[in-house]
Amino acid sequence: MGSRWYVLLLVSARSGRMAQPVCIHHDQVGYIPRGGSCRIIKKGLSMSVETIDTLVVGGGQAGVAMSEHLSKCGVPHLVLERGRIAERWRSQRWDSLVANGPAWHDRFPGMEFPVTGPDGFPSKEEVADYFVAYAKQINAPIRCGVEVKLVQRNVGRPGFRVETSDGVIQANSVVAATGPFQVPVIPSLVPADAGLLQIHSSAYRNPAQLPKGAVLVVGAGSSGVQIADELQRAGRRVYLSVGPHDRPPRSYRGRDFCWWLGVLGKWDLETPGPGTEHVTIAVSGARGGETIDFRRLAAQGLTLVGMTKAYQDGVMSFAPDLAKNIARGDANLMSLLDEADAYVARNGLDLPEEPALRKLGPEPDCVTNPILELDLAKAGIATIIWATGFAVDYSWLKVDAFDEKGRPRHHRGVSTEPGIYFLGLPWQSRRGSSFIWGVWHDAKHVADRISTQRKYLAYHAAAKREPVDA
Ligand SMILES: Cc1cc2nc3c(=O)[nH]c(=O)nc-3n(C[C@H](O)[C@H](O)[C@H](O)COP(=O)(O)OP(=O)(O)OC[C@H]3O[C@@H](n4cnc5c(N)ncnc54)[C@H](O)[C@@H]3O)c2cc1C
Repeated sequence: MGSRWYVLLLVSARSGRMAQPVCIHHDQVGYIPRGGSCRIIKKGLSMSVETIDTLVVGGGQAGVAMSEHLSKCGVPHLVLERGRIAERWRSQRWDSLVANGPAWHDRFPGMEFPVTGPDGFPSKEEVADYFVAYAKQINAPIRCGVEVKLVQRNVGRPGFRVETSDGVIQANSVVAATGPFQVPVIPSLVPADAGLLQIHSSAYRNPAQLPKGAVLVVGAGSSGVQIADELQRAGRRVYLSVGPHDRPPRSYRGRDFCWWLGVLGKWDLETPGPGTEHVTIAVSGARGGETIDFRRLAAQGLTLVGMTKAYQDGVMSFAPDLAKNIARGDANLMSLLDEADAYVARNGLDLPEEPALRKLGPEPDCVTNPILELDLAKAGIATIIWATGFAVDYSWLKVDAFDEKGRPRHHRGVSTEPGIYFLGLPWQSRRGSSFIWGVWHDAKHVADRISTQRKYLAYHAAAKREPVDA
């Protein structure tokens, strides 16, 4: 598409010396400094602005899945990724992380993990390599190293103007596939000058990275619990702050919990159950995969505490809810075992019984006599790791697509703002939406909606060319 550009000659206000001519788009003319520091030497020069039907922002698993389905629907598109494909798996996860789900489950339908067998748990690097290989297999048009800085709706004509670190692109549709977990969230409890290292779980790499001393890990979802376990095994004294959680069995009666959640229809739940919005899930694929058992962790030497509540003068206080949170997690485990048993009986499956999983160990002392206040210096704590989750940041997407809390307004990824789509959001269409295998299905739906809209526009264009006889 043609567009107006200006070639400018910048003149230094002090020396009067001229710099290299620069080229700017007509939209930017309002930003030209006045007062002789800049002279337009040529204007109205026509240059082509890159245009694309659908622009996908983000080249993680969501961007790759989106590309596959857009290609299948014949939608011309481009994926822009500011880093590398699946960058977050490469650089925002700890070194020893393996996938939380087995390789047969946590993958796209079109490719198996080449190294890890179906029941194994691929390392984070294998996961990233998988998406690189997948993108190659489907010939995905992904441009790496390009950041999308701003998306704005065109005025008086359809489509969007997209400013990137590599120029301007015009797109009819934009898919925001920038991830469910973008910005690390650290509660503002402990001041930065408290004399401790404070990092988010996304910045944790390995035990050697931390200063000597004990560690408080806040948050006992999959990240917090795995990091705490790793640190304890490395010889650190570790305190783990445990909130409400689900802890499904890693496997039961010979089937992984991913299988059970699938056959029991739990991955397909469309909304979190009432009151469970803030309940995290504690699972792990580490060391071949094991059920998270807080009693075992305590027996291993970890000190459990309740929800982290407040900090004052070097003392951290914890809610008196540890026993309740542990009991809730146990109840969640048991109810899943019950449902699994009922499924086995109903379908007459030949799966070995596993009564041992129902036997809970003795209540650890840290649960029966919980620590409610902890002097961090006296406990030797030198580091706090906040495994407290993430928020999203769509500050680059300047369209009317968000509610008052900044959350996307959408239905299954189709925004209330026409032409804008989201992919990879937690609970976008169901519980599985933010996971590797779930996002693939959501991408199919979003591609289908984009393709349908294109058909309406194509009809309109054709109808304009061939006016109907009166
Ligand atoms: C510790 C951890 C472990 C997990 N383990 C599993 C697991 O085992 N199995 C599973 O199914 N799921 C797992 N998940 C959940 C989910 O699969 C991952 O969060 C995954 O990274 C989400 O993929 P995505 O493509 O939606 O988003 P992301 O991986 O976050 O990708 C978004 C991409 O967008 C890019 N980007 C952002 N902004 C811009 C911009 N303005 N311009 C250009 N590019 C931009 C980023 O660089 C990034 O590469 C895990 C999550 C975490 C945090």
